[in-house]
Amino acid sequence: LYNQMQDLKGNIRVYCRVRPLIGQQNSCGVVGSVEEESISLVTSSKNGKEVKKTFTFNKVFGPSATQGEVFSDTQPLIRSVLDGFNVCIFAYGQTGSGKTHTMSGPDNITEETVGVNYRALRDLFCLLEQRKDTIHYDISVQMLEIYNEQVRDLLMTDASNKRYANLVPVSSTADVLNLMSLGQKNRAVGSTAMNDRSSRSHSCLTVHVQGRELSSGNGLRGCIHLVDLAGSERVDKSEVTGDRLKEAQHINKSLSALGDVISALAQKQSHVPYRNSKLTQLLQDSLGGQAKTLMFVHISPEPEALGETISTLKFAERVSTI
Ligand code: ADP
Ligand code: MG
Repeated sequence: LYNQMQDLKGNIRVYCRVRPLIGQQNSCGVVGSVEEESISLVTSSKNGKEVKKTFTFNKVFGPSATQGEVFSDTQPLIRSVLDGFNVCIFAYGQTGSGKTHTMSGPDNITEETVGVNYRALRDLFCLLEQRKDTIHYDISVQMLEIYNEQVRDLLMTDASNKRYANLVPVSSTADVLNLMSLGQKNRAVGSTAMNDRSSRSHSCLTVHVQGRELSSGNGLRGCIHLVDLAGSERVDKSEVTGDRLKEAQHINKSLSALGDVISALAQKQSHVPYRNSKLTQLLQDSLGGQAKTLMFVHISPEPEALGETISTLKFAERVSTI
């Protein structure tokens, strides 16, 4: 049923979310108007005239959209994992645009501000409780970080990282919360005070679902990847060197590889270039085919961010099927 609904909308969707101007609730900055499915940027040209540029998406969330509203649009997609589908949800955008806010929530988290990750798992557990007389489900989670094209398991309890992909069985949202905070802690271990590593690595929370129909014994499998991508901002090559430049090049390479894969899928091209980055290799089974992809592109409304905002919107146009 969920799937039928989703089929009508296609397998690749691009949503745009504009965060409020910091300190000014509901204010839009360079974003002139926000409609259901489009946003317009208002910029001024060289001769001082106002120029309006409009971009179209499957859905747009303005600065006043709540975490609950954002989740409820995503819910059917997330639920399809219990019917055996593979789903990828990406948060894309420059550092500070709200990716982590959407996926995890703000630092001072409350019941109202928890993000997609937690809401998704809570909803899945709620649903499998409702279905327990007909289907038995096993759920396990995995948390990975990709930094400089190296994959690190964030749920390892020791530092060896020998097992590449630690799948941890969970039976309640409380279990998941504990694992998420372990993952956060492990993520912080690799970072120094000066470098905010989290903005320069991709993090991926994966939920694996295995179901067995009690009457027939038939099995199904699905998984959902919730990905908080590294910041998409371009760095000025004349200004950064060494590790910082290497990081920037890896990020650039993997985000364009992701863009290439999604745009090849959106255009139904026969060759999909999965092998160009760790991220797309890792998610290969969940990108394309019957799998469903949702890209949340995030935008900062500050005038200073305009250059990045435009490249973010161009990226979004490239991966969109509209
Ligand atoms: P990113 O992960 O893209 O670097 P963050 O999610 O950390 O960005 O967001 C930057 C700041 O803006 C944080 O303080 C965050 O709480 C705030 N913020 C982001 N999106 C929203 C939103 N939709 N509503 C309110 N505050 C937001
Ligand atoms: Mg972040």
